[in-house]
Amino acid sequence: MSTSLIKRWQQTLASMKQAEAQHQVSQPVTLLAVSKTKPSEMIRELAVAGQRDFGENYLQEALEKITALQDLKAKGVITWHYIGHIQRNKTRDIAEHFDWVQTLERDIIAKRLNEQRPDALPPLQVLIQVNIDDEDSKSGCTPEALPELVTLIKDYERLTLRGLMIIPATDSTDAFVRTQVLFNEIQARHHELTNWDTLSMGMSGDMAAAIAHGSTMVRVGSAIFGARD
Ligand SMILES: *Cc1c(COP(=O)(O)O)cnc(C)c1O
Repeated sequence: MSTSLIKRWQQTLASMKQAEAQHQVSQPVTLLAVSKTKPSEMIRELAVAGQRDFGENYLQEALEKITALQDLKAKGVITWHYIGHIQRNKTRDIAEHFDWVQTLERDIIAKRLNEQRPDALPPLQVLIQVNIDDEDSKSGCTPEALPELVTLIKDYERLTLRGLMIIPATDSTDAFVRTQVLFNEIQARHHELTNWDTLSMGMSGDMAAAIAHGSTMVRVGSAIFGARD
């Protein structure tokens, strides 16, 4: 057992609480523990301590951990989020093994996930990733393409559209502000989107600023698990 892992996790939760109090956030922010490159034993330790949501970027690695932690999944104490780039030929594995997908950026991918989501499972919870700083290197749809993508994705029966996700460039505060505007615009325009409740932004380095600007879910890797190799 590594007490330092639990300690860093508790410190992260405490920092979140502090930011929530400071900015008078009414709903508690969700902590997504980003466990890419880290072993399933660390995930198990955190899950047993009470951490529910885990994010993975690399499909093969994630599938191995999901299998190793099947018992926790069966008990309903762990929720898996896919936060990596989605290759078209990998959608079936994602649809069958994850609870959430945060990186939707094209309708063709949404269509495939919808078709491939097994009937025995609840709908896949999805976020649209927005390339908020219009960077060539980043995934995500452009802010201009977002309204049409929302109208397409919201009607898929095996997907539940929950909100937006961003990975900002360096000046993250400005990106947080612009994303919150987009999030609110969609909410105002689509009253039928009754599950529109998730704004996934903020990582180890800018978690508090994200919470200050309306984040409902922060994705934290290194601050909990330590630096990645
Ligand atoms: C790796 C990763 C994170 C976590 O980053 P840290 O800086 O280690 O907290 C969050 N979101 C995504 C999409 C990532 O790939």
